[in-house]
Amino acid sequence: MKLKSNKYKTILFFGPPGSGKSTQAKLLDKKKFFYISTGELLRHMRDGAEFQSGALGKKITKIMEAGGLVPDRTMIDLLFRYLSQAVSEGIFKPDKQILIFDGIPRNTTQIRMLNDHVQVIQIIDIHFSSDSILKERIRKRAVQEGRSDDKNRGIIEKRLAIYKNETAEVLKHYPKNIIYKINGDDSVKEINQQIKNILNN
Ligand code: AMP
Repeated sequence: MKLKSNKYKTILFFGPPGSGKSTQAKLLDKKKFFYISTGELLRHMRDGAEFQSGALGKKITKIMEAGGLVPDRTMIDLLFRYLSQAVSEGIFKPDKQILIFDGIPRNTTQIRMLNDHVQVIQIIDIHFSSDSILKERIRKRAVQEGRSDDKNRGIIEKRLAIYKNETAEVLKHYPKNIIYKINGDDSVKEINQQIKNILNN
């Protein structure tokens, strides 16, 4: 949804890799919400012909496989290029849908860059009591979905550690009253109900 300021109304989903954010997002009403995961967007682009043949594509693939972060400006440009294309193709209807971002922002530079385009109205922050369930889930998913970035235990550890540091840092920059914490140990159905209650708020 676009505000008078011409910024997109946006909800941020936070949760460690393997926390089921995309599963949850896919259960929401598509007429009301337009979900985008920057990780999914990059994986989709990485596997496309245009990306595979170009230098930028090769660079991004290397970064992702090492579990690092794509440069901020590149990430923001790719995201908003994709969103304008989605608007022109009628897939994303900013006058009717609220954006849901998963995977962004990852640091203060991205927060600043995003602020030029979006207004964050709510943040859903999914927590877990321990990493062991997550690690197992990520490893299984990597095999099922052929996600080379998640097959290696060292890389999984690195992604979880980066996630914890990044999120703690990022959340500090948003007002506490828009952050809603959810217990990720609950079932998919229970989490879905909690998210729906928050979004209907
Ligand atoms: P994710 O599925 O969100 O964990 O993202 C998978 C990979 O994509 C990350 O390890 C990064 O290499 C890259 N990536 C996703 N989102 C971002 C972002 N906002 N900034 C930089 N790199 C990103």
